[in-house]
Amino acid sequence: MSLEGIQGILKAGGFLLDSTSGFGDCYKLELGNGWLVSAYCSFEGNPLAGDVDKTSYKDVDIQLHNMVGTSYICSTEQALKENLLCIIDTLRSNSDDDKILKCPKCQIRYVNTNTPTAGQKWQPYLSCSGMQVVAIGDNKGVMCDGVSEKLPAVVNY
Ligand SMILES: [Zn+2]
Repeated sequence: MSLEGIQGILKAGGFLLDSTSGFGDCYKLELGNGWLVSAYCSFEGNPLAGDVDKTSYKDVDIQLHNMVGTSYICSTEQALKENLLCIIDTLRSNSDDDKILKCPKCQIRYVNTNTPTAGQKWQPYLSCSGMQVVAIGDNKGVMCDGVSEKLPAVVNY
């Protein structure tokens, strides 16, 4: 996907370039309800092998800021163009009343996407942002192990 093409579509949707790294560019959109949408565009190539092509994007990952809720991944320019407004509408309706984004177990924290890396076979899922090891040894455990099935974890276009 060409950088210019994707930038044009995102800017038309109201996104602004927020930050850039060796892995890709991150664009942001303010929804006006206190929530931000991030569109993370990863560069073509393998950054670990040092052969990144900074003139084209591999895919665009659109999600509420801090990896909250569903991750929408567009792998073609056409898919981004056709679905961007619908994705933004869905993210806005999820965040206007953000109960659907909260962990069903503790009902306090938001849910984050968990996605397998290459070679792992499990399906992506949404889990409580409090799911983290809080200590080691005898106190080893998680603060909250809630998992939400109210929303899809990942949607690919
Ligand atoms: Zn929780």
